[in-house]
Amino acid sequence: MLRQPARAISPRRRRTTACALAIVTVGTGAASAFSPCSVLAGRGRGLSQKSDNPAGLPAAPKGALTDIVIPSVFSGGILEGIDVCEGGAKEDPRVWVPQTDCLSFRPLCFCTSQGYYVNLLRFTGGGILGTHRHPSPVHALTLKGGWGYKEHDWHADAGTYVFEPPGETHTLVVDADCEEMVAMFHVTGALIYVDADSGDVTGYDDVFTKLEKAREWYRKCGLGEDYAEEFIR
Ligand code: FE
Repeated sequence: MLRQPARAISPRRRRTTACALAIVTVGTGAASAFSPCSVLAGRGRGLSQKSDNPAGLPAAPKGALTDIVIPSVFSGGILEGIDVCEGGAKEDPRVWVPQTDCLSFRPLCFCTSQGYYVNLLRFTGGGILGTHRHPSPVHALTLKGGWGYKEHDWHADAGTYVFEPPGETHTLVVDADCEEMVAMFHVTGALIYVDADSGDVTGYDDVFTKLEKAREWYRKCGLGEDYAEEFIR
């Protein structure tokens, strides 16, 4: 039985040093176009980053690559004039697969042939995606709201790109005062859920578990199990 740790959290302020830097450099358009400073995280391989989870699991083990955090990739008005819903048609809300009480996902690609998936992750009213480890890389692009990892100082606001290096163990947090957070995640391999206190593995998610969740939901909601098949490559 797989466990998907997610729960509502109380409002709190996250550390926003990284965000402040983003605003100064590229956030409002007041500053000049591109600046190398807009990449917030370090470069290359880092030393083991100590985590604040009770089990002492490293946010990044020794020799792992450092994360990349680029805010405001939508700056310069590149999204202007783009209709988010083609033809003005109303989106069928059933395309969103409920995963927990505060988290749902919309599949874009289930790449069963290469072991990755691409999906939009949506949190409503804040919440936590429990502590998990990535044996393979993850790419994320925030479209709405904001999120972060308990183990890192940066905060990914709308328009922020994040590269999560293989080896990361982290806990995704969306603040309770964030009405809605939507981000595109490209996940290679798996999320291996661990108990933050003991470090014990409690479950996992990969392209196959996500596909099963989608099939089950689409069957239940009336879109039909086959709806999920459209995204398999
Ligand atoms: Fe993650």
